[in-house]
Amino acid sequence: MKHWPSDRVGKAVDVCVWQDDVEGYWAGNCGIQWCLEDGTPKENGMNFCPRCGRRLNKKGG
Ligand SMILES: [Zn+2]
Repeated sequence: MKHWPSDRVGKAVDVCVWQDDVEGYWAGNCGIQWCLEDGTPKENGMNFCPRCGRRLNKKGG
């Protein structure tokens, strides 16, 4: 734990930011494209990006 990168905690480096690209499709900044029929990734129970494994964040909130 002593090498924990505390300077990175709270910054948007370990998250994958998703934005709704086209209707029903989401695009993450790791290059993933994911189709959700309804709701946001979080509303669908997705807390982590299935491609890069980082914490999933929706753009703009
Ligand atoms: Zn990702």
